[in-house]
Amino acid sequence: MRKVECANQKKNAAACTCTYLSCERHGICCACIAYHRASDQLPGCLFPPEAEKTYDRSVRNFVRAMTGKT
Ligand code: SF4
Repeated sequence: MRKVECANQKKNAAACTCTYLSCERHGICCACIAYHRASDQLPGCLFPPEAEKTYDRSVRNFVRAMTGKT
């Protein structure tokens, strides 16, 4: 991945609920969204905590977490 600079990275990272802290996109929201969108996924910050920590970023896991339906 090309190194992306973001003036707001520290501020974004401090507020981000994604627990994969070693990710090079952490706090660089545009890169995070683009990365997951390219795989039909959602960024970790959208998931409730129990679902987020599975690191399954699929739309299916998001719907399951938010509705209880698969
Ligand atoms: S949601 Fe994915 S790309 Fe974004 S910071 Fe977490 S692990 Fe990295």
